[in-house]
Formats: sequence, C-alpha cells, structure tokens
Amino acid sequence: MVLTESMEDYLEAIYRLDLEKGYVRLRELAQVLQVQPPSVTRMVRKLDEGGFVHYRKYRQILLTDRGREIGRFLVWRDQLLLQFLYLVSGERDVKSQVEGIEHYITPKTMIWIKKLVTFLRTNPEYVTELQRARAGDYPEGIDLKELRAWNFRHP
Ligand code: CA
Repeated sequence: MVLTESMEDYLEAIYRLDLEKGYVRLRELAQVLQVQPPSVTRMVRKLDEGGFVHYRKYRQILLTDRGREIGRFLVWRDQLLLQFLYLVSGERDVKSQVEGIEHYITPKTMIWIKKLVTFLRTNPEYVTELQRARAGDYPEGIDLKELRAWNFRHP
C-alpha cells in the first residue's frame, strides 16, 4: 500500500505521540491533527489495513514494526527539512512550507539535503555567504501573484 499525503501526516503524528507518551489514543490523535474523531477512525483503519498500525475499537493505536520504521523516517524528514529551509532562507517560520514539500521530496534527495545541512553546520562561513547572497531577494520586476507558493507566503 502506498501512503497518501494524509496517511503520512497521520503516521507522523502517531509516531510523535507514541514517542512523547508511550501510547496513542484516537482522541489525542484527533486533537493533534485538529480533525473530527470519525475521520481519524477512518484513516487509522486504512493504516491498519496497510499494516502500519494495529487498531481495535476503543483500544490504543499500536505501531507495527513497519509503521514505526516509516514513522521514524517521516519525523526525520520533517525535522531535516525544517533545518534546511531555515538555513537556506533565514526565516524561522518555515513549518507550513515543510508540510507541503515533505510529501513530494524523494528519500534520495533527503540524503543529499542531510549531507548539505551537515556541511553547512560544520562550515558556518558558507551560511554567512548564503545570507549575503539572499540580499537580492526575489527576481526583480517579476509579478509572482499567480503562484500558489507566493500567495501562500504573502496572504
Ligand atoms: Ca509533517
């Protein structure tokens, strides 16, 4: 079963809750994801069918080995993309961008990003160089208002 964007978000949230509390209940998952419990039940059942969690009504949601493995990757990807976008853009508020990008980036690209982030961390002079290069900002004279990402960042 291929995970949809939404299933990835659920699995990531389940993994995080499991790490924090040691257990995952439907109600808390609904709270974290800000979704109504019936939708959560539907999605958790799909994750159960896919072999990522075990779920029985009114019981805890348990991660399978596969679910845990993928959940760990999803959290790693999320955190690494946050660090990467922060290093590149200098903006602290990159969370919403990461929530979009993370579903489209390949694991292989994530490996390169990991190497790049490690490199930038150990060679801060390049981060300074990046900051200088950012001075020009967006390409001048181009109207970007039709772009989704532009509107996303400039509501
Ligand atoms: Ca995420």
